[in-house]
Amino acid sequence: MRLIIMGPPGVGKGAKSKLLIKQYQIPHISTGDIFRELFSGDYEIGKIAKSYVDRGALVPDDITNEIVRQRLNQADVQKGFLFDGYPRNIEQAEALEQFMKDKGWKIDAVFNVQADDNILVKRISGRRVCKTCGAVYHIENNKPKVEGICDLDGGKLIQRVDDREETISHRIKIYQQQTKPVISWYEDKNLLVHIDGSKDINHTNEQIMKVLGEIN
Ligand SMILES: [Zn+2]
Repeated sequence: MRLIIMGPPGVGKGAKSKLLIKQYQIPHISTGDIFRELFSGDYEIGKIAKSYVDRGALVPDDITNEIVRQRLNQADVQKGFLFDGYPRNIEQAEALEQFMKDKGWKIDAVFNVQADDNILVKRISGRRVCKTCGAVYHIENNKPKVEGICDLDGGKLIQRVDDREETISHRIKIYQQQTKPVISWYEDKNLLVHIDGSKDINHTNEQIMKVLGEIN
């Protein structure tokens, strides 16, 4: 199974990715993880990519694409994969299409997990994280026993800057703008599967499994 998952921050992509990689025993390829791995080792392309990140600039598409191309040659992805966070724009989608052609592969489905912006903002802005151990809580859906205090170690719960309402609205807007063309691109190729991310996780999992049953 060769899959792509897309969705704005707060839509619960992580949990859905876990379901898919477990179901199909495929590796989860997030460009964030690839970059982190490259930066920690002695790789030429990693050094080039890092020089952009260190300057606070975006890594250019040709470098990201080359990193993905190299990743696709590794043994663990030969039978399938789940891309997460890639492709992010049309240039990357076109590059991926070319890599698939070169390999004689094709993408089986692109999951577009969506939810209303208000729901996303509420989910993320309600997150609280333990300063000590990093455990994640939510002021409505996953409260600690004592407000503001971690159940595990008594650490103080804080809100990350990234999770603040004004930051999150901006992140969602940027995401929607960036990915809109990619979503239409996969829609035109009849690969797009819309998943409602506003319902609870079991409901979403059911939707995903139903769709995959139809593809198989
Ligand atoms: Zn803690």
